[in-house]
Amino acid sequence: MTSNRFWNHDEDLLRSVTDWSLLRLVEGRDPRSGALPAEDLANALGETVVPDGIGGSEALRLFTEVIVPATRAQDNPMNLAFVPAAPTEAALVFDLAVSAAEIFAGTWEAGAGAIAAENQALRWLAALARWPATAGGCFVAGATMGNLSALVAGRERARSRLDAVPPRWRFAATADAHSSVRAAATVMDCEVLNVPSDERGRMTGHALTEALEEVSDDPLAAGVFAVVVSFGTTNAGVVDDLAGVAEVCQSHGLWMHVDGAYGAAALVAPSVAPLFVGMECADSFVVDPHKWLFAPFDCCALVYREPEHGAAAHSQFATYLDGVDRDVWNPADFAVHLTRRARGLPFWFSLATYGTDRYRDAVEKVLSTTRAVAEEIQTRSHLRLVMEPDLSIVLFERVGWDMVDYEAWSLRNAKAGTVLCVPTRWRDQPVLRFCFINPETDVAEVAAVLDGLAGSPRG
Ligand SMILES: *Cc1c(COP(=O)(O)O)cnc(C)c1O
Repeated sequence: MTSNRFWNHDEDLLRSVTDWSLLRLVEGRDPRSGALPAEDLANALGETVVPDGIGGSEALRLFTEVIVPATRAQDNPMNLAFVPAAPTEAALVFDLAVSAAEIFAGTWEAGAGAIAAENQALRWLAALARWPATAGGCFVAGATMGNLSALVAGRERARSRLDAVPPRWRFAATADAHSSVRAAATVMDCEVLNVPSDERGRMTGHALTEALEEVSDDPLAAGVFAVVVSFGTTNAGVVDDLAGVAEVCQSHGLWMHVDGAYGAAALVAPSVAPLFVGMECADSFVVDPHKWLFAPFDCCALVYREPEHGAAAHSQFATYLDGVDRDVWNPADFAVHLTRRARGLPFWFSLATYGTDRYRDAVEKVLSTTRAVAEEIQTRSHLRLVMEPDLSIVLFERVGWDMVDYEAWSLRNAKAGTVLCVPTRWRDQPVLRFCFINPETDVAEVAAVLDGLAGSPRG
């Protein structure tokens, strides 16, 4: 190696890091969280950020022996809590290559090749939504950022269409919308117009109409600029009445944003196609490939039907950016960001490797696992299914248990590594919740967990 390198080159260290990474990919990890109190971790790590450094091999030892064991693997097939992850081997290993390539994917000039490939993946998603080929966007870190960016674009479109600035900006959503939607309202300093959801937790066109009528017969002029619909609520996995909402949005000129962070992966699954009707009318959507589309963290696809609205809201200008060609596709223009890694590439690589048919089959497999588990629940007298699942989230009760029982059971199983399943609430009642996204989750193994629920919560 050349002697004028500032940082020394250490072939052995490179090998140790990649060897560990590859071994981890082959072996997987159990679903237990090894989280320790901050003080214990500080002691286990010791002082690592010191003038002379501790050396790469010692830092790697700490990573493998202290740091990783004190985290939870999200991709174990029996991790059914929150929204877990199930990245493919191809997607995971390609993340290493994306890092090694060190691509600035904010502008076409710097990242053209990567952006072209990312855009093919975005185009596939847009086509599943039955959107025109002119649709487009970019990958951002997560749906929290995606929802915010889309809503800012929606407000910008409203601003450009109104003669006067309304006294208060608002967008409509139900209480079942994700917490990030309310967080976006806070960041944007606007209000949420609450639309009551139906008995399954869905927004309907009818309820939206009623909520808008209470505001004004011209809601846009009154400052209502968008409606957020959920394609798969995080708590129950239900899909709002997209078609009904789309009609209302079109008649009032409101931006329709679909939050499909978890659920829009199901666009690839023909067995739930009736749920998609109306999706083709939306103005923007997000889906997190790091959830149910088998990509590693962190990866959210943000797509605009008319990307110029995204650019109008988000393009940054400055003398040092004067050289940026605005006639080409610059992902920096479409969200609240400038520098970005090509985080869509692991998703693209996996799609290209396995093919879209395998993606369809993987999502269908998860849907059939979910239906099978819902049936298993219904055959057990100690359990009660809260509702038939729309997608792959199952809410159910253990007859006679309260929240304290659920928590004790959940903790005991988390510690044993049998299943990660945390209780939630449905209409104020404590319930258990499974979120399936991994095609490798085994129905028989989940059924054994259901049998275990017949006993006492404390084992
Ligand atoms: C997970 C989720 C989000 C937030 O996504 P992040 O990627 O965690 O930022 C938003 N909306 C829904 C419906 C989700 O399930």
